[in-house]
Amino acid sequence: MARIVVIGGSLGGLLVANMLWRAGHDVHVLEKASASLDGRGAGIVTHKPLMAALVRCGLAVDASLGETLGVGVKERVVLGKDGAVIAQADMAQILTSWSRLYALLYSAFESALDSARYLQGAAVSHVSQSNAGVTVQLDDGRVFEADLAIASDGIRSVVRAQYMPEVQAQYAGYVAWRGVCDESVLSQRTLGSVFDTFGFGLPPGEQLIGYPVAGAGNAIARGQRRYNYVWYRPASEAVLKDLMTDADGHYFPHGISPNKVAWQHVAKARQAARELLAPQFAEMLEKTAQPFLQPIYDCASPQIAFGRVALMGDAAFVARPHVGMGVTKAAEDACALTDCIATHGATPAALQAFEQKRLTPCMAVVERARMLGAYMQAGNQTLARDARTVMLQTAIDLSGEHQTKRAESAEFSV
Ligand SMILES: Cc1cc2nc3c(=O)[nH]c(=O)nc-3n(C[C@H](O)[C@H](O)[C@H](O)COP(=O)(O)OP(=O)(O)OC[C@H]3O[C@@H](n4cnc5c(N)ncnc54)[C@H](O)[C@@H]3O)c2cc1C
Repeated sequence: MARIVVIGGSLGGLLVANMLWRAGHDVHVLEKASASLDGRGAGIVTHKPLMAALVRCGLAVDASLGETLGVGVKERVVLGKDGAVIAQADMAQILTSWSRLYALLYSAFESALDSARYLQGAAVSHVSQSNAGVTVQLDDGRVFEADLAIASDGIRSVVRAQYMPEVQAQYAGYVAWRGVCDESVLSQRTLGSVFDTFGFGLPPGEQLIGYPVAGAGNAIARGQRRYNYVWYRPASEAVLKDLMTDADGHYFPHGISPNKVAWQHVAKARQAARELLAPQFAEMLEKTAQPFLQPIYDCASPQIAFGRVALMGDAAFVARPHVGMGVTKAAEDACALTDCIATHGATPAALQAFEQKRLTPCMAVVERARMLGAYMQAGNQTLARDARTVMLQTAIDLSGEHQTKRAESAEFSV
């Protein structure tokens, strides 16, 4: 049994911690946030490898996992500005939410172990290593000794900053306006035309995607669900700075919390929605109490194994959201790490093997997401994309041959 410390207790950290514990290791998760993380996330697209990883985390899987996990849709539609459907495809998918996945993975870990192995308020400040093991230092002075440390501490990873300080998150040149709108407040037209679908709105150089997710208390009954939407809009660095500044003039360079987004920006976004988007989507923007803003970044680390320390999930690679791969990619990392440790033991060789397995596919995901998002970058508005192509290529499952062929055969008209 090896001692393994997982740094970061979001979805990536919980996935790998669950798998490693089930493989017989002595696992601790160190999570910086001291309050509950639950409730901060919105929608997550699922793919087959994520389902397979959840099984490895001990979550019962059968035909019912889809229902346990979220809401299923059967088709995709693109709505024109007048609200009419301009493209349609039959594409089934299960959509879940960050909170739902977190609750499932946390309770799988907690029920298997005692909760003292998931430490909150545990901010890692430094990692050091010798031939014999790793020492993980917290900023409050506590120290953990282990055979391996797995860093799943997100896009601004302190562990990556220690080993690869030159690797930084890159701003993509556009932001996302996001929100979840209650099903119960929407008009019959919106419910009937788009609510049960993976919907798209595609004004020139912009993109809105949306899909139904569970409502309060993870309710998935009709009438109690919500529609999760993400509206990508170009924003130069100067515009971004303005958007990240609240109504009192405070600037939040690392992201603005939903309750701080300036009301003037919300009002402008709602006005733009009425002018540019289908009325169904404008209605959702109007009826969401607190739409929130997220700048889009990506990040790629050319090295993810450093002796007894490895990076995984968003600490290693962040792809723009158009591939819908954030959690699935972390799940694939967790599976690869667990397999490599099973083969090589808790040694630097295991982490080297993990790096060999994951660098190329993760880089390909980042590149694909860049390609899909290029037409929305500030200054790139001369690029045009065909609505059907965007619909067929966004957030699809490329793990099966069928889907790969469909994506490759789709017309690409940049
Ligand atoms: C609260 C939250 C909400 C999210 N909501 C969505 C969503 O709605 N849709 C979506 O597609 N993706 C969402 N994501 C991103 C998604 O969870 C990630 O893409 C996925 O989990 C894989 O990333 P990760 O777990 O490796 O990193 P992240 O999810 O970024 O988690 C990193 C974790 O590490 C912790 N951490 C950071 N620094 C330290 C440190 N020094 N010491 C200890 N712990 C540290 C953070 O508090 C965080 O919990 C969300 C992430 C978070 C944290």
